[in-house]
Amino acid sequence: MKHVVILGAGFAGLELATRLSESLAGEVRTTLIDGNDSFTFGFSKLDVLFKGEPKADVQLPYADVSKEGLEFRQERVTSIDPEARRVTTDAGSYDADILVVALGAAYDLAATPGFEEGGVEYYSLPGAERMRDVLADFDSGRILIGILGHPFKCPPAPFEGALLLHDHFVERGLRDAVEIRVAGPMAAPVPITKEVSQSFLDALGERGIEYIPNQHIAELDTQENEARVADGESIPYDLFVGIPVHRAPQVVLDSGLADGGWVPVERTNLATRFPEVYAVGDITALPMAKAGVFAEAAARVVADDIAARLHGEELEQPYEGIGNCYLEFGGGAVAKVEANFFGGPEPTARLVGPSRELAADKVEFASTRRARWFG
Ligand SMILES: Cc1cc2nc3c(=O)[nH]c(=O)nc-3n(C[C@H](O)[C@H](O)[C@H](O)COP(=O)(O)OP(=O)(O)OC[C@H]3O[C@@H](n4cnc5c(N)ncnc54)[C@H](O)[C@@H]3O)c2cc1C
Repeated sequence: MKHVVILGAGFAGLELATRLSESLAGEVRTTLIDGNDSFTFGFSKLDVLFKGEPKADVQLPYADVSKEGLEFRQERVTSIDPEARRVTTDAGSYDADILVVALGAAYDLAATPGFEEGGVEYYSLPGAERMRDVLADFDSGRILIGILGHPFKCPPAPFEGALLLHDHFVERGLRDAVEIRVAGPMAAPVPITKEVSQSFLDALGERGIEYIPNQHIAELDTQENEARVADGESIPYDLFVGIPVHRAPQVVLDSGLADGGWVPVERTNLATRFPEVYAVGDITALPMAKAGVFAEAAARVVADDIAARLHGEELEQPYEGIGNCYLEFGGGAVAKVEANFFGGPEPTARLVGPSRELAADKVEFASTRRARWFG
């Protein structure tokens, strides 16, 4: 029986493991490895930050994952040899017939000097908890959300953060005392589409929030409370909220799989240049948004490609990079960005909503994944 080893149990790894168990139980055995003991949806970090959700309530324990032909191991991957398909962890080693790298994107806070000691972030669970406490004591001044690199996970998330910050201060009766600005390296909030970018700019503008484009923030001057921009300018703040520089995890950079920081793959089936080695999710170099919906859709294609090859068939439906990303708009309403990266000659995206119905859809999105992966 072929042994499939999946590194990383995020959106991609969980969906791949589930689909393999559904379609190939009895034909492959699968080992799913993650260094954590639980999975958290990216958007749950906003619930911890703004809705006071306790951390424990948004963590979904891997101990609940129970699927035919699947074994979960809580171990940290310490080296990957893609030629030999050999993986070493802090607890042992694995030889895979088919290896899938789904280790996501890591954050490099140190890439922005001053950020760790002088800023807050909500892209990690501990970061969201800390920012929630800092926010509770913040009642006036200038908040700067700084996007510190590109690409970053979930392109709408910095703007969601800004819209929800607006609500937070409105609810506390302090909105007039707080300035909120977003600065980033992109010329527009969502560079692939003028229309969606304009909708974001309109939503921000209606709430008195400015987007400052083309800003490459290099470091924070924590004495002066100023973000130093690469062109020599600086942006003052009283509270700096950073979207950290994203990188492939070091173990992937050390493995020879990456080129230019991320792992190149065939767009159609997510195969790397190494035989029987795939990479899927945020870790890939595909020119598209890094988001859970795309990671899980790509994982389904990897499962189908594995099944097709085992059965001597061709993959029927190649990966198209199509998905809907939900976006909190404040006031309990949610919008979605419908994106299609590879279905046509150019990527396309459009904004639907915001509405209360889409807020209900987002709840449904999370609960179906919870039931499918952990049920
Ligand atoms: C604030 C925020 C909001 C978001 N909102 C949305 C949204 O509304 N919709 C959406 O689609 N996406 C959203 N995202 C993005 C989404 O969370 C990611 O794009 C998605 O998780 C990527 O899936 P992945 O499987 O590639 O990687 P991940 O889900 O990051 O999984 C990678 C896994 O690898 C593990 N790992 C890493 N290194 C090692 C190692 N050395 N050893 C062992 N294990 C390791 C990690 O523990 C992790 O579990 C949001 C993200 C954030 C931060």
